[in-house]
Amino acid sequence: MSILVVGTVAFDSIETPSGSAERVLGGSASYFAVAASFFAPVRVVGVVGEDFPQEYIDLFTQRGIDLQGLKRERGETFHWRGRYHEDLNVRDTLELHLNVLTGFVPRLPEAYRDAEYVFLGNIDPEMQLEVLSQLRCFRLVACDTMDHWIQGSVEALRKVLPRIETLVINDSEARLLSGDHNIVRAARSILKMGPKTVLIKRGEYGVLQFSDSSVFAVPAYPLEEVFDPTGAGDSFAGGFLGQLARSRDSGQGGLRRAIVYGSVVASFTVEDFGLKRLSSLSLADIEERYQRFVELTDFHT
Ligand code: AMP
Repeated sequence: MSILVVGTVAFDSIETPSGSAERVLGGSASYFAVAASFFAPVRVVGVVGEDFPQEYIDLFTQRGIDLQGLKRERGETFHWRGRYHEDLNVRDTLELHLNVLTGFVPRLPEAYRDAEYVFLGNIDPEMQLEVLSQLRCFRLVACDTMDHWIQGSVEALRKVLPRIETLVINDSEARLLSGDHNIVRAARSILKMGPKTVLIKRGEYGVLQFSDSSVFAVPAYPLEEVFDPTGAGDSFAGGFLGQLARSRDSGQGGLRRAIVYGSVVASFTVEDFGLKRLSSLSLADIEERYQRFVELTDFHT
């Protein structure tokens, strides 16, 4: 039950009200892979430049993450610079350098083509389509995207959506994609674009899950201090798909438990800059907070 992820492996430069960090390891595939690796084996498809340090490669390999599909190309690694507002749900992209990602065509190593659980991380939808076309069989494909791609590559994105099971997207992106400000109507119109389930991330307000037959809501784990929200969404997706792969249960109950695991992993990510907190975590820490989460939301009618 291995998990395949395609996405960015990046240098992130981040400013939040709590501090700043320069060129730390980031990117959608990085957060997803580390988060999912607590639950199941993970394989990464992506690209880095000549400047990508060994210490970051080691961080992945220490977690048993398979990097056969991570290409090193001539040039510089993808670099994102962002700044968060006092309201941490709002951030501005100050710089976006695609660098080696420009023109990158993902090629799945032969062994990756039978991956059971697939995450098409936040990346050019054309690359997401390329990955889909190389998969032989799979149980579940989830996908993320962001404003940059909704604004610039919506046609390719509309081709991805009918081919996936679950879209993981944040609330402002759901509004942008659907053209509807109301989040419930936005989710309904995205469901009509193809995915069976839409998971709407609402930062500190938690997650809403929509399918044709149900709606499910979980809060975010209440934290006294959020240092850096970067990667919360990708860590959520990693915990979610990781738990689905571990349990092999994609029924309604299994999906709901996986959403809570995703929320738990994301709550750790935001406690420090970059991948610092996630890389010092154990599965026991995750299970313990999962139990606290269960108590937090325990409610009998
Ligand atoms: P999240 O906070 O989970 O939405 O994801 C943050 C990650 O997305 C950062 O680590 C960035 O490196 C990465 N990122 C930012 N902009 C883009 C983009 N346009 N395409 C792909 N990845 C991006």
